[in-house]
Amino acid sequence: MFKKNKKTNKSLKIKIISRIIIPLVILFVIIDIIFALSFRQESINEAKIRSKIIAKVVRDNLTSLMVMGVMQNRKIFIQRLKKISKQVDIQNISIIRGNPVDKQFGPGFKSEKPTTADEKYVLASGKKIEKLDETFNSIKYHVIIPYKATSTGIVNCLICHTVKSGTVLGAISFTMNLTSVRAAMFRIIIYTSIIFFALFIILVLLFLRFLSPYISLFQEIEMGLENLREGKMDEFLISESGLPNDEAGKVAKTLNETSKDLKKILSDINSKVSTLIGYTVLKTDNYLKDTIKIINELIKIYNFKRVVERDRTKKDIIRRLEFITKDYMYFENYTIYEVDNNKMSLFVINSKINIGKGNMWCNRLILEDAEACRAKRTGRDVDCLDFSCICPSFNLKTFEENESRVDEICNEKYNYYCIPIYISGKVGMVLLFIFDNDMVDFVHQMIPYIKNYFTEASSIIESRKLMELLKEQSLVDQLTGLYNRRYLDDFSENIVAGIKRRGTNLGILMLDIDHFKTVNDKYGHDNGDIVLKNVSKQIRKSIRSSDTAVRFGGEEFLVLLIDISQGGALEIAEKIRKAVESSPLEISEGIALKKTISIGACEYPADSDKFWQAVKYSDIALYKAKENGRNKVVRFTKEMWK
Ligand code: GH3
Ligand code: MG
Ligand code: MG
Repeated sequence: MFKKNKKTNKSLKIKIISRIIIPLVILFVIIDIIFALSFRQESINEAKIRSKIIAKVVRDNLTSLMVMGVMQNRKIFIQRLKKISKQVDIQNISIIRGNPVDKQFGPGFKSEKPTTADEKYVLASGKKIEKLDETFNSIKYHVIIPYKATSTGIVNCLICHTVKSGTVLGAISFTMNLTSVRAAMFRIIIYTSIIFFALFIILVLLFLRFLSPYISLFQEIEMGLENLREGKMDEFLISESGLPNDEAGKVAKTLNETSKDLKKILSDINSKVSTLIGYTVLKTDNYLKDTIKIINELIKIYNFKRVVERDRTKKDIIRRLEFITKDYMYFENYTIYEVDNNKMSLFVINSKINIGKGNMWCNRLILEDAEACRAKRTGRDVDCLDFSCICPSFNLKTFEENESRVDEICNEKYNYYCIPIYISGKVGMVLLFIFDNDMVDFVHQMIPYIKNYFTEASSIIESRKLMELLKEQSLVDQLTGLYNRRYLDDFSENIVAGIKRRGTNLGILMLDIDHFKTVNDKYGHDNGDIVLKNVSKQIRKSIRSSDTAVRFGGEEFLVLLIDISQGGALEIAEKIRKAVESSPLEISEGIALKKTISIGACEYPADSDKFWQAVKYSDIALYKAKENGRNKVVRFTKEMWK
């Protein structure tokens, strides 16, 4: 569970509120402006209508006075009019007489004279003037409406007035004070605004109260997912107290369940893969990265095993292990020993040494006596840090010539670690690592990895070893240890191809033991076998290791002399013949068996550019040697073939 972040919680609330408030306030202000403008326009329109009605009523009253013949009493009417109009916020009301009326009926009252330019203009032009006088403190509507003579309507003006129709008889002028209307309008706007804001704040508070658990939940989910992304599975759980009891709450619970499941799955994967590969990778607090790491490790090992399984020879696999040790694990000083469990000895199959003298840290004794190697003998890892000088076979003498190196080893600047690798239930390999103090932790971390690679490869090495042995056995004659006919069938092409490629010479010798049958007949088959072994030994001794000796038939041998000089084959043949002749065998007390051999020789490609034909030629030469009295070397000549 993680702490709620109050700061982000607040900022999220502010964000939500500001996103709601700002547009609403703008909307409200716009509505208020529209409301104020339309209210103003409406009150002006209303004033215009009222002014028309007032003008009409005044005109009708004046007409009535005139029709009744009491026009001279109009002053009373005007005084009353002024009084009443003041009560309804109408100021400066005055009735003005036009010139035609003055002309017909004489001048009127002084108050009936036009006083302003506007009044004079209305009388002269017959056009209405209206003006709006709007300041911060007040708003006033001034209007001057002309009265024109008409012959239509209820009263015909022309009956009393001797003027033409349309003549301006007078005008009415007054000012309507709209200030109080405007004030009322502002009051309404202010009251509604206050009500609106009060309601709005209540709504926002209610909304936030409702939203609060969702905001917290959202933030917990956000932080949880962030932790999940960083693989901190333990910190994903959302607090379940105070969760809203609706879909959001369900989502949170589902996320918690998912997180727990995911953690369990990842832990399972980690532990199962660890069991599979035999060790746990270095753990961080990131479950995802740990899982990826361990799966990658599994994939690497799986790939390594797949590649190694397809490797043809033990040598190829060792080369791959060398790569893993050196280039992948960065071990700079190491030796890989193979254990020969028959001879009970160790031999170096791969080694890289950059410190000390020579290329071996271990006492050479282990090469002859496998038990001298502590890792081989105990079958357990040997760590020099466990005990001072834990392995007596670790050879300080390697550094003897360099005093400082001895000091370094003695002062434990360098460390060693040996790992026995089991093959078919026995220690089949031993790995030795040398490293300085800075590398101690690294090496100890790497040990499980390197063990795994070697263990994976060990069974395959074993099977390749067996295969190689089997193959070797099927190509080798069991009695003499020389190659058999099958070897010749399989590899003669390779040998000949090599000779051709190098443009050299191949000496071919066909050998046959003279009167061998009599050995069997006289001394028995076992003694015959001893003779066969001895002849094989003499042949092997007389030729180079690169040459090939084959037991061709019962007591017949074929020797292939690789890259021999022209005529050289005869020399070697003679060497073999002499060697056999001069190595009598004491088969039983006092009985020395002296055997001889006959040899037919020929050369490829000098005698024939066809290998098997050349073999035939040497066989022919062999018969010639037999014919000529045995214990001889005869070289093939063309005449023999004829
Ligand atoms: P030659 O000088 O003409 O070669 O006479 P030979 O007796 O050597 O020739 P022959 O071919 O008559 O005899 C070969 C004998 O070698 C016959 C066979 O019994 C014997 N032989 C073949 N293989 C083996 C073997 O593996 N062990 C033993 N002891 N004898 C073998
Ligand atoms: Mg023979
Ligand atoms: Mg023979």
